[in-house]
Amino acid sequence: MRVVVVGRGETYLKFDMHTHHSRCGHAVGSIKDYVEEAINLGLQIIGISDHSPFWGEDQDAMLPWVGMPQSEFANYVSEVLALREAYRDRIEILLGIESGFFPQHVHVYDEMCRSYPLDYVIGSVHVVDGLEIFDRARWNNLDLEAAKGQKEKYYGLVQQAAHSGAFDIIGHIDAMKGNYPEFSSIDTPSIDLTLQSIAEQGLAIEVNTSGKTKQCGGWYPSIDILKKARYYEVDVTFGSDAHEPRRIADEWDAVRNCLIGIGYREIVYYRERKKYRVPL
Ligand SMILES: [Zn+2]
Ligand SMILES: [Zn+2]
Repeated sequence: MRVVVVGRGETYLKFDMHTHHSRCGHAVGSIKDYVEEAINLGLQIIGISDHSPFWGEDQDAMLPWVGMPQSEFANYVSEVLALREAYRDRIEILLGIESGFFPQHVHVYDEMCRSYPLDYVIGSVHVVDGLEIFDRARWNNLDLEAAKGQKEKYYGLVQQAAHSGAFDIIGHIDAMKGNYPEFSSIDTPSIDLTLQSIAEQGLAIEVNTSGKTKQCGGWYPSIDILKKARYYEVDVTFGSDAHEPRRIADEWDAVRNCLIGIGYREIVYYRERKKYRVPL
């Protein structure tokens, strides 16, 4: 395995914990394509974390352009495990999932995740009040108070996700700004409360570099929020949220430098649902 040596004889890993592939219906490339690209990019670890199926629904293939059918999940797991074996001399492949957070179904999701040998589960809030977080229509004709209410509802769900015990990493924690950049300037203490609860639960947040694929640009979360995360001693991991192989580890160096700049000395990843810390 390639290990990059940095100052004082320490080593650091280059990895990406958040990647999708064609199974979810809105990403391109096979898992193998992502693994091959990760090797080309010099990663030592690649986490495969496609969107969860809709486990709370009766229908097998609910919204097939959002997530894989329920009946496909076992195939997903065995494909990742087979690739792990096939590539074991070249790269470590971790089996993850990006699980949607639906409070009413969280126990069903948790049970499903725990019945497979997952290395980690990213819990992400994608829906608030029945509307996708990226749906700009949510913000039409809202006054300041109502907009603040939406933001607080979103963070209420993120906090619930953090307390559910179902997740290791909380995904893209300010992603509601995606197609509504004004979201970030809505003044509420909810982000502080959220970071405190994530820290209390011992979970990690990801620095997710896919903001550039939406109107907001930049990262989830913003650097301001990362500084607060540092203050509250929230662990961080890295995820490109790649939906195409060429985005793997996108902006890894910039994220690493930024984290060092704001005082982080370690970054975390997960194997067998245990947290591993490595120097930045
Ligand atoms: Zn996706
Ligand atoms: Zn997501």
